[in-house]
Amino acid sequence: MPLPDDSAFMRLALDEARAAAAAGEVPVGAVVVKDGVVIGTGRNAPIAHDDPTAHAEMTALRAAAQRLGNYRLDGCTLYVTLEPCAMCSGAMLHARLARVVYGAPDPKTGAAGSVVNLFADARLNHQTAVDGGVLADEGGTLLRTFFHERRMNGNPHPLRDDALRTPDSAFAGLPGYPWAPHYLSDLPALAGWRLHHLDEGPPDAPRTWLCLHGNPAWSYLYRRMIPVFLAAGDRVVAPDLIGFGKSDKPKKDNQHTFTWHRQVLLEFVERLDLRNVVLVVQDWGGLLGLTLPMAAPGRYRGLLVMNTTLGTGDVPLSPGFLAWREMCASKPEFDVGRLFARGNPQMSEAECAAYNAPFPDRGHRAALRAFPPMVPEHPDSDGAAVSRQARDFWRERWQGESLMAIGQQDPVLGEPVMRSLRDQIRGCPEPLLLPQAGHFVQEHGESIAQAAVNHFSR
Ligand SMILES: [Zn+2]
Repeated sequence: MPLPDDSAFMRLALDEARAAAAAGEVPVGAVVVKDGVVIGTGRNAPIAHDDPTAHAEMTALRAAAQRLGNYRLDGCTLYVTLEPCAMCSGAMLHARLARVVYGAPDPKTGAAGSVVNLFADARLNHQTAVDGGVLADEGGTLLRTFFHERRMNGNPHPLRDDALRTPDSAFAGLPGYPWAPHYLSDLPALAGWRLHHLDEGPPDAPRTWLCLHGNPAWSYLYRRMIPVFLAAGDRVVAPDLIGFGKSDKPKKDNQHTFTWHRQVLLEFVERLDLRNVVLVVQDWGGLLGLTLPMAAPGRYRGLLVMNTTLGTGDVPLSPGFLAWREMCASKPEFDVGRLFARGNPQMSEAECAAYNAPFPDRGHRAALRAFPPMVPEHPDSDGAAVSRQARDFWRERWQGESLMAIGQQDPVLGEPVMRSLRDQIRGCPEPLLLPQAGHFVQEHGESIAQAAVNHFSR
């Protein structure tokens, strides 16, 4: 049972723990008390002493025994900020310690009840009493803060246990993609997932092109358009959706949901405080991106829309899309680079390979498996209701300028789908038609970007 003086002595142990942290050691501290007097103190110091046994308790026990001139510590109480390990508990039993009082439990190595309880085993022990939980919050916070700071030191984006990260080497020397990476992991919806984005051009430019890619692409898809926007003196922001490009890849398919990805994008736009935005979308960039402006209409002044759709769940999915979804399900290991090569004979081998770069093995491909079935198919599918609200927004409330470009060779989201989308966008003029372009319209993007630079007012 805790005694009135326990907190006061535990505070002395916490002082020792803080001193350990200041020295770069795991912050654990201990004091030994006899008849109300401190007769030994210790702090964790295995690094400083090259000594695996240099735990706070061992040091405090040694100091107390020296002081008493006796290896038996009869009538003594040891206070320690963390539940003792098996080694230290053993030492306390050898010392015939009367009582041990600890702070935070240690679920990994605690030997006073968390993992094992050496003090409760009558074969080992007849004399040492145990009390835990004294100022446990303070001891625990010291440890958590220490480990958090150590994880963050030199690594502002630690990798989550449930995430994979494509090595930087996979992206070395990609043709036509010279831009520096930018990373964010502290948006509330990200919860530590590392999101990559490009951010080029002056931050205070009169126009910002927010370029959103789809499945299975990444910001590489915009490499032919970005230089045209930059040459006009504008800013370009192009994120990689989580699961794609240089962003972290969830290990589990079911991490991916429409609502989560949309929320990440909403928070991303707010964090970068993007204004005078021309939203550039294609494929999933549109399924998600077209639902963004209604949440912050004042930030958007234009829409450049290429082969995409709204997943309202009340219109049947196109036969072309159903065929694509079926292909992804039956050949989950399909070659992403080959997919681009097939639709874009003008691309070099190295450019096609750049689309495989984010996915070195099947473990990295959760997004490729998750996205096709994620297109809202029924009225109550995740994302369908918000997509219907977006449809109303584009029809009735959209105040900005619009431009549509259609890759006519696209069997999935081609001209028929785009014509009906155009009917939903208030004031959208007759589309630009690209007879040579397929689904990935941006691979023919220079002329579209040039038309857009001229079309949208500054
Ligand atoms: Zn120990």
